[in-house]
Amino acid sequence: MPNVRNGLAGRDLLDLGAMDLAEMEEALQHRGHPRFHARQIYSWIHSKGVTDFERMTDLSRALRADLPGQFRISTPKVVQRETSTDGTTKFLLELEDGRRIESVFIPDTPAQTFCVSTQVGCAMKCGFCLTGKMGLLRNLDAGEIAGQVRVLAGALDLRDSRFNIVLMGMGEPLHNYDNTMKALRILNDTHGLAVSPKRVTLSTVGVLPALERLATEPLMPNLAISLHATTEDQREALVPVNRKYGLKEILDAARKFPLKRRSRITFEYVLLNGVNDTPEDAKRLVGLLGKIRCKVNLIPLNEAAGIAFERPADARVNRFAEILAKGGATVSVRKSRGRDIRAACGQLIVEGNQKSPAQRAAGLL
Ligand code: SAH
Repeated sequence: MPNVRNGLAGRDLLDLGAMDLAEMEEALQHRGHPRFHARQIYSWIHSKGVTDFERMTDLSRALRADLPGQFRISTPKVVQRETSTDGTTKFLLELEDGRRIESVFIPDTPAQTFCVSTQVGCAMKCGFCLTGKMGLLRNLDAGEIAGQVRVLAGALDLRDSRFNIVLMGMGEPLHNYDNTMKALRILNDTHGLAVSPKRVTLSTVGVLPALERLATEPLMPNLAISLHATTEDQREALVPVNRKYGLKEILDAARKFPLKRRSRITFEYVLLNGVNDTPEDAKRLVGLLGKIRCKVNLIPLNEAAGIAFERPADARVNRFAEILAKGGATVSVRKSRGRDIRAACGQLIVEGNQKSPAQRAAGLL
């Protein structure tokens, strides 16, 4: 099985794609190369999308020849690409170990937006979300998170455009804190894609200790908190992690969260017909959000087989939004994008074979 053995040996090489610039400088120096080459390589990988050392033409021939024996650049591979009637494009990406994730490109919202995954699957098991059905298979590393943007921007020829990133794909970003923050650093570097944290929104179910840590980050993304309910009991039923980090504590943390001038926290609220979408729910929500500088983003459920809830009729959604607005809240209703290709919120799931190609080849299924 020569291929299997080569594959594993390849993965032992250090991955430059998962390093921030400082780490890349260290790694090069450690292998006896001048540190300044890191900037060149970083720019090839992240800004120009070149991962073949041979094509990094401003490096000396000798260095280009050395690098492949010392390093690799792990890059998610596009295995499938589907475009919705509304232009939303869903990418199925395969990672080095054969695990698969989905990432979504949403055009004109009004900006261009990449919706990126932070984990393979998710441990949170929110009752209305398909990704939760997979359970958590593993965390993505920083290179795999940043790599989704690198690969999608390359595939769509958007590397030189301005775009936003939402960490709203598969997974709970604050359940994979260090890798997520490192990915934001990699994406932010001016030698790479130079994405400002102002253009990034991190959506979380509210993992409390991580939320408190986020409040101290130098590179702070916009924050969206998935609320979905107005009482502890109701939230516990929909978002199981509420047993550990309750609604009240999350709202307290939100109240204390340091916000830059004019920025606000977004509260996401999925509307489930007859469950959390009554006028009483809306009034309670107004009360809960009281003094928090925030806006509410209502998400009418995207239905899917295996999800035991229904999407409310537009009239119910509008009535809910109106009560919030009358109560003084800023409210928007999220337009569902890419539903026809199962690319909308809560519809990302990778089914079937999640074994690595090496395992497949070796018959270890
Ligand atoms: N783990 C993060 C990111 C999840 S995806 C979080 O919980 O915030 C972004 C949003 O889509 C979340 O608010 C999530 O609760 C919501 N969502 C999940 N399933 C959905 C569905 N079927 N329909 C509509 N929104 C859904």
